[in-house]
Amino acid sequence: MTQILPLSRPQDSAAPVPLIDLVAQYQTIRDEVQTAVTRVFERQSFVLGEEVDNFENDISEYCDARHSIGCASGTDALVLGLMALGIGPGDEVITSPYSFFATASCIVRVGARPVFVDIDPVTYNMNPAAVEAAITRKTRAIIPVHLYGQCAEMDPIWRCATKNHLAVIEDACQAIGSVYRGRKAGVLGTMGCFSFFPTKNLGGAGDGGLITTDDRDLAARLKRLRVHGDFGGYNHIEVGLNSRLDALQAAVLAVKLKHLDTWSAARRENADRYRHLMQDAGIADRVELPTEAAEHHHIYNQFIIRVRDGKRDEVLAGLKKQGIGCAIYYPRPLHLQECFSSLQYRAGQLPESELAANETIALPIFAELGAERQARVVQSLKKVLAEVESRHTKTIRRAA
Ligand SMILES: *Cc1c(COP(=O)(O)O)cnc(C)c1O
Repeated sequence: MTQILPLSRPQDSAAPVPLIDLVAQYQTIRDEVQTAVTRVFERQSFVLGEEVDNFENDISEYCDARHSIGCASGTDALVLGLMALGIGPGDEVITSPYSFFATASCIVRVGARPVFVDIDPVTYNMNPAAVEAAITRKTRAIIPVHLYGQCAEMDPIWRCATKNHLAVIEDACQAIGSVYRGRKAGVLGTMGCFSFFPTKNLGGAGDGGLITTDDRDLAARLKRLRVHGDFGGYNHIEVGLNSRLDALQAAVLAVKLKHLDTWSAARRENADRYRHLMQDAGIADRVELPTEAAEHHHIYNQFIIRVRDGKRDEVLAGLKKQGIGCAIYYPRPLHLQECFSSLQYRAGQLPESELAANETIALPIFAELGAERQARVVQSLKKVLAEVESRHTKTIRRAA
């Protein structure tokens, strides 16, 4: 008999609240996962094969994509996508500087140049008007990021891409199941890239990734590129990567995919509950809360609040002291990363991205969080905000 631990312990009201709790999720699916893992071990077929084929078909159906190609990580999905398009030295790719590092490193990895455009300060996603302005004769593709689980404003981006004969690679690593105008992330561009890193809404038992596309030729090339460019019988017409999805990952992910919509719905409920709790606590106007844009379906991979006026770091430290799991995604925008200094971006050049990097905090939003712990997060936030605000008021008075 497997012993199922209670998901929340309301009596333990002083226990810290984690930012994410994968153990709690595992307890709800332990038997299903164990069955799948045992099946893979009994077969001893570990790389690609039937488990991966089946999972790829599941994702194609889930996203309404014609083809899905599993690979070793979300980062590799982006690299393979660019390789399949033949993008390399001399080419420019437009993307957002307010994202995880891999969004830009994939471009550098294939020898092309990232061109960063600023974000919309409300959704934190790429500003479509800025994309239009950044296009040059060298531009080959656009990589919009569906940050935190909400799709970028894809219609204007796609229009701009078609007009200029550019490919669109969605960085959908945080957005599996997110919807934009009735269509899922992954089918809103030329290709969609997903990550199954454990903390994503669909997380594996290690690294994993996948690319979706409706284009048959791109799909064939991607399948070749993930196995060293081998088109069969050790015949290589180009140099690819070793970047395959493991059967174990596919088996675990196929189990979890069946629960994905339930978990994402719970995250959405948690987001609504935060809004109500913060309203009731009288702090809804002292922090900025995430919004769901019209015709979008947000899956809340992260729940991001914004603290203005240089108070973010103090609020973050205060929350941590109260035992509230929280984090900054991401503290340094990509155009200001040391490894990209040769691109010659300056501080102040992409102000909305730089402000967001200084003002945002991620709060716990995972499906198993529970109302009681959410109430504690909000109470702690209220207390910390009051402390930080009174400190600032005193400083201002002293200065006056
Ligand atoms: C997680 C993530 C990636 C990279 O995925 P890995 O599987 O960790 O390589 C890329 N882009 C974004 C926006 C991500 O959140």
